[in-house]
Amino acid sequence: MIVIHTARELRKQIQLKKTSVGLVPTMGALHTGHLSLVKRASEENQLVIVSIYVNPTQFNDKKDLENYPKNLDQDLELLQSSSENIILYAPENDDIYPDGMVPKNFDFGSLALHMEGFSRPGHFDGVATVVEALLKNTTPTRAYFGEKDFQQLTIIKELNKQLKLGVEIISCPIIREKNGLAMSSRNQLLSPKDREEAKVIFKSLEAILKHAEKWTPHQMKQFFIAEVENLKGFKVEYFSVASPSDLIPVDHIEQHKMYRIFVAVYAGKTRLIDTVELKRK
Ligand code: AMP
Repeated sequence: MIVIHTARELRKQIQLKKTSVGLVPTMGALHTGHLSLVKRASEENQLVIVSIYVNPTQFNDKKDLENYPKNLDQDLELLQSSSENIILYAPENDDIYPDGMVPKNFDFGSLALHMEGFSRPGHFDGVATVVEALLKNTTPTRAYFGEKDFQQLTIIKELNKQLKLGVEIISCPIIREKNGLAMSSRNQLLSPKDREEAKVIFKSLEAILKHAEKWTPHQMKQFFIAEVENLKGFKVEYFSVASPSDLIPVDHIEQHKMYRIFVAVYAGKTRLIDTVELKRK
C-alpha cells in the first residue's frame, strides 16, 4: 500500500495508473463500517484512495476535536489487510486549506438547517469544504459515503451537483455492532457499560418501526426519549422524522411518502447518531 501526503504526489500516482478511482473519505480510527466502504470501492474500481483527515473546521466543539480517536498505525494495518490496490491519502492541512484554515460558505437550503445542521452550527460548511478539496485533489470516478451520516451524504450529493464535479456518489448501508449499535469511531470513547447499553438506541428505533402505522412522530419521540433516558447518563439531543429528500422534520406522516428517523444521543460525554428508514406496510 502506498501512503501519500500531498495532492501533487497523488496526481502523479493516479496518472501513472490511469484507471477508475474510488475515493473513501474518512477521519480514521477505522472500523468495519469504514472497511465495508473500502470493500465496495475496490469491487467497483481499479484503484481505491482512502483519505484519512480529521478536519478541524467541521468540529464546532474544541474538546470534541481534541478527544476524537486517532490510530494511524492500526488504520494502516487494517487497510493493508483489506485490499491490494489502495492508496492511503493522509493530507497535511496545507493540502486541504492552501489559503488558511477557514471553511467556505455554502448554501444547501433546508438540507443543512435541521438535525446535525441545527445541533452543530457550521458543521456542514466544514464538511463540504473538506469534501470539495478531497474530490478535487483525488478526481475520483466514484466516492463512497455511509448512510450512517445520511444528512451528510445528501449534502455531498448536492455539493457534487452544485459544483458540477461529475463524481458518482455511492451510498452504503450502515454496519452495526452485534448488539445493533451503529459502528462509529466514537464508540471507542464509550465505557464498556455504555457501549453495551447504547444498544437501546437501535432497539428503540426497531420498536418504533413496529408501530410506524399508528404512531405520530410525537408519540415516536416520546417513546424514544423514555426508553433511552431510562438509562443513567443517556440523553436524547434530537429525535426527528423527516423526508429523505428535503430533510425537513414533520409532525404528520402522510401515507405513500417516504420518511427517515434521525436521532442524536449523548451516552455520557460521547455523542452518537443513528438513522433508519421509516418503513410502513
Ligand atoms: P468518519 O470517519 O466517521 O467521517 O466516516 C467516514 C465514512 O464512513 C462516512 O461516509 C461515514 O458515513 C461512513 N461510516 C461511518 N460509520 C459507518 C457505519 N457504521 N456503516 C457504514 N458507513 C459508516
